[in-house]
Amino acid sequence: MPNKKLAKYRELLEAKQQELSKGFRTRNQIALQRTPEMEEEAQMVVEQDLAVQNRNLAADLLRQISAALDRIDDGSYGTCLSCGAEIQPQRLEAVPWASHCTRCQETLDLKKGKSAAQRREYVEVESSAGERAA
Ligand SMILES: [Zn+2]
Repeated sequence: MPNKKLAKYRELLEAKQQELSKGFRTRNQIALQRTPEMEEEAQMVVEQDLAVQNRNLAADLLRQISAALDRIDDGSYGTCLSCGAEIQPQRLEAVPWASHCTRCQETLDLKKGKSAAQRREYVEVESSAGERAA
C-alpha cells in the first residue's frame, strides 16, 4: 500500500482512538454518579449495565485500533490476517481497523456470534465515513 494511503488510515485510526478515549472518561463519570431517589435506582442499574457494555465495546475497539496501527508500522496493514488477500479499500474506508477481508470477517462473526451492538457500531462508522466523503 502506498505511504500516502497508509498515512491517511493512520490519521483515521488515531482520530477514532482519541474519540474513544474521551468517551471512556465521560462514561466513567456517568457510572459513578449516585442519586438518592429509590425510583431512579432501577434506571441507574440499567444505565450502568449499558455503560459497562459500551466500555467493553470501546475497549475491544481500542485493541483493534492499536493492532491496526501496529500493522501499519510492520507493513502488513490492509492484508487479511486469515487468507492474506488485500482488504477491500471501501471496507478500510468504513472500518480502518479491519483485520480481515469481508468474507473472512463474516465467517469469524458467525463463529463468535457477535452482538447486535457491535454491528451497530459498524453501521455508525460507515455512515459517518459517508458524511465525510459527501
Ligand atoms: Zn480473508
